[in-house]
Amino acid sequence: MSKQLKCPVLMYHALVEKRATNLHTVHITVEAFRQQMEWLAANNFQTITIGEMLQGFAQKKEGNYCVISFDDGYHSIYRYAMPLLKQYGFCATLYLTTAPVGKDDFSNTGINAKTLPTNDKPLNWQEIKEMQANGWSIEAHSVTHTDINKLTAAQLQFEMAESKKIIEQHLKQPVLHYAFPFGKYNVASLKIAAKIYQTASTVHAGLCSKRSNLHRLPRLEINHTTTIKSFAKKIQTGFDSSKEKLRASARDIVFRNPVVKDLSKKILGKRVN
Ligand SMILES: [Zn+2]
Repeated sequence: MSKQLKCPVLMYHALVEKRATNLHTVHITVEAFRQQMEWLAANNFQTITIGEMLQGFAQKKEGNYCVISFDDGYHSIYRYAMPLLKQYGFCATLYLTTAPVGKDDFSNTGINAKTLPTNDKPLNWQEIKEMQANGWSIEAHSVTHTDINKLTAAQLQFEMAESKKIIEQHLKQPVLHYAFPFGKYNVASLKIAAKIYQTASTVHAGLCSKRSNLHRLPRLEINHTTTIKSFAKKIQTGFDSSKEKLRASARDIVFRNPVVKDLSKKILGKRVN
């Protein structure tokens, strides 16, 4: 039986030398990140971009491939992740929130400053260009990282289209991929995504495959609680546990039509994501 390509897309945020207690669980230590990269190299994984993943599906490629993605645009990624990835010959994708670029902090965005690493800051365009020159793929992650439920239709359109435009202007490259801030999406954002992006990523667990919905791609959150054992399990199966896998299959069936998701959100409120 031929095994078709199933590709894990890893999601990272900031990297820190030492974790402070108030730090959001998605920011991990440089050492944990290094160990995970070492695991990928030891297990013969090759890193690809989202675009290359789509080509791999079309060509029915087999093998150990994964996508490494970073959200928001923290300076620590430039400082720690870029040189480390270079050592391993790995490439990565940055989903960039554009408004904070070059600023001192993430104020006036939906990113919660209280749970951020204190000595981190947003990337600037010079650093982002250097990352691009090092083989990073720079994609969009909204303008201000505002919760989708707080946006009007016009604001949503702006957040999704303007971030693409700004990156394209600065980097002179097409931006074809989007990651939903907080992983949240609805019927309206899926419509915009389908119009202007080749893919859009969520934070649903699972592996990407030829059968994945291109505008609701799953991504694997790697956080402070991820051990090397659970990292390996996530990469190989797409899930932390069989319970999570079951929940994901149920969600895929119930929410196949995104209208159902929007309706349940209206009825059940915050519990639906
Ligand atoms: Zn984000």
